[in-house]
Amino acid sequence: DNKEERLQYFMATPALMNTYGTRAATLVKGEGAWLWDDKGKKYLDALSGIAVCGLGHSHPSVAKAVAEQASVLTHCSNFFDIPNQEELAENLCAVSGMAKVFFGNSGAEVNEAAIKMARLFGNKKGLKLPTILVMDDAFHGRTLATLSASGSRRVQAGFEPLVSGFARAPFDDIESLNKIAENNPNICAIFVEPIQGEAGIRIASDGYLSRLRQFCDEKDWLLMLDEVQTGNGRTGKYFCYQHSHIIPDIVTTSKGLGNGVPIGACLASGKAAELLQPGHHGSTFGGNPLACAAALATITTIQTEGFLDRVSALGERIMSGLRYELADLDHVKDIRGLGCMIGIELTKPCKSLFSKAMGKGIIINVTADSVVRLLPPFIMTDDEADHVVAILAPLIKAFKKD
Ligand code: PLP
Repeated sequence: DNKEERLQYFMATPALMNTYGTRAATLVKGEGAWLWDDKGKKYLDALSGIAVCGLGHSHPSVAKAVAEQASVLTHCSNFFDIPNQEELAENLCAVSGMAKVFFGNSGAEVNEAAIKMARLFGNKKGLKLPTILVMDDAFHGRTLATLSASGSRRVQAGFEPLVSGFARAPFDDIESLNKIAENNPNICAIFVEPIQGEAGIRIASDGYLSRLRQFCDEKDWLLMLDEVQTGNGRTGKYFCYQHSHIIPDIVTTSKGLGNGVPIGACLASGKAAELLQPGHHGSTFGGNPLACAAALATITTIQTEGFLDRVSALGERIMSGLRYELADLDHVKDIRGLGCMIGIELTKPCKSLFSKAMGKGIIINVTADSVVRLLPPFIMTDDEADHVVAILAPLIKAFKKD
């Protein structure tokens, strides 16, 4: 009978779309830097849910803030004033030197906001086809505009036609900009990650951001930074651009902002601060009371005295441990990082290191095929950090081929 057939179908076919391939384990619990699977096996987390849970799992003040807020008011829509949304915006502006905030729910979504703002800016200037300069190998998200802005064919293939209005430059190459600007009078903004995360923890040279700032000022372009991954303390400053002592016109962030509760922010300053006006943009959930409670608890913790110094020290400890253990190995090309954003580049694809590490009870990631990426939670102890090195280094040493 029909009902029986439907039942058979649902039992045989997973109900989830297969966007993530085979999952490595079923995680059911987290505390601090540790995660547990459904069989009771425990893992030391050196990934933080891809740069999200900087404060670790089940952080007491985030958990308390979320539980308390959920029992009072979870959501009310942006038709109404939301006091903790305003408080979070003020807090973000104070920590960043920016002037205004728009809240969304994810990295891609706040990047869309930034892209729309650049278009408003270009259209106001009277440009025919406002164009944003983006970088080779960039990653800005999976929506149509953000995948078009991204520099990887893997993200774009099959989703053509791409969104127009993007031009491309090599990352970390100031010299290329003059020529690109000459050839394209429609450019009105540069959108760039201060460190390219998905592309393999590629760190721009010293002075790159300040020279971009100068270039954008000369051309009257917006400097827009994607700090979805690098923001919220990850590199040892609240935002990565703060290492360079500049202020961008627009900066986006998400991931670590709510320590696991979805929230994103698009911050603007100077000539970008007043671009968005009523009717231009919106989000049903963006900055709702629940998400803002989580983010406020998170940002307050990150602002605790000495917290960001600890992020730097922790990252340094892991990096120097790895450098010591992996010195002089032919297949280790580079070990680099800033704060708790670390990449170990091998000379060959190394995806299989992920499951080898899982087998040994640590969670790592491999990105750009051949870069082991570590994004540990900031609350990791020295012993836990040493444990990551002690487990990972022998795996990398022994690694011969995928
Ligand atoms: N931008 C950067 C730099 C990212 O690293 C990511 C995610 O990895 C995104 C944007 C997209 O964020 P989300 O997955 O929250 O849409």
